[in-house]
Amino acid sequence: MGSLTYDFSDETVIVTGGSSGIGREIARRFGAAGATVVVADVLEEPKDADESIPTHERIEDAGGRATFVETDVSDPDDVASVVEAAREFGGVDVMVNNAGIYRHGSLLETPVDEFDQVLAVNVRGVFAGCRAAAREMLAADDPGCIINTASISSEYAQLGHTMYDASKGAVMMLTRVAALELARFGIRVNAVAPGIIETTFGEETPDLEFDRTVDDRFIAGDAALPDPDDQAIETDIPIGRLGTPEDVASPYLFLATDDASYITGHLLYVDGGYQIL
Ligand code: NAD
Repeated sequence: MGSLTYDFSDETVIVTGGSSGIGREIARRFGAAGATVVVADVLEEPKDADESIPTHERIEDAGGRATFVETDVSDPDDVASVVEAAREFGGVDVMVNNAGIYRHGSLLETPVDEFDQVLAVNVRGVFAGCRAAAREMLAADDPGCIINTASISSEYAQLGHTMYDASKGAVMMLTRVAALELARFGIRVNAVAPGIIETTFGEETPDLEFDRTVDDRFIAGDAALPDPDDQAIETDIPIGRLGTPEDVASPYLFLATDDASYITGHLLYVDGGYQIL
């Protein structure tokens, strides 16, 4: 089978959530293709135990150009600062809004604060990223493209995914409305919807623990939610294995090329066929 080669020399790519998992691989691939990569994340160090080198250092070690900007995507001022930081590299050509978090919980038991936290990162973060990047591209009169990380959860509901599925459904629609509005300016907006990918996604961050104490009547009881770890097994995936960040990254590069110049508002599944079921 053949493979595609990409050339993003002279282009600047921002990758939110670029320190770990899928975002790290997207950043690494763009860096290897000659782009200057701005890694925007709350953490500079990778959160997965088997990795110790920050993404921007990995890219530089491989001969590329990259920098890290500490960013909480739920704060629109932080997101605007990242876009400003990209100016010194010539502006934003590609904005990848990839940062996301997962919390497991039923509708009945989920505290409002926890729901808000998930939506603040997964939805407000993507909104802020699309808006800041589009404003910058228009101000510079240099339209580029925006790629959001959605999920199979954008269209398929699962028990216990109350917060996450609501947020990823919103990412899909944000992608579409942004594509609709920005098409006239030559800015394309698409989303990649990964399936079940082997990363440390969903591992709890201690300072984001919420009090889930509720009235006994609201505890799921016999309808207890499945353990999230039991929900995604290889046998459910037509291709027969979990995905890897390497499987997911390449479509981001393709969508950012002129070869994808007539594709906008699209949700591209990269899920081993999971959405067919
Ligand atoms: P991950 O946890 O390995 O990486 C997520 C990265 O986002 C981390 O580096 C983390 O520090 C960063 N991050 C978290 N909150 C942030 C914030 N407020 N501001 C900036 N950065 C923040 O997870 P992943 O599996 O690489 O997930 C990346 C994206 O892919 C997410 O949007 C997730 O919803 C989506 N996704 C993942 C899977 C999967 O199975 N892993 C499936 C579908 C979609």
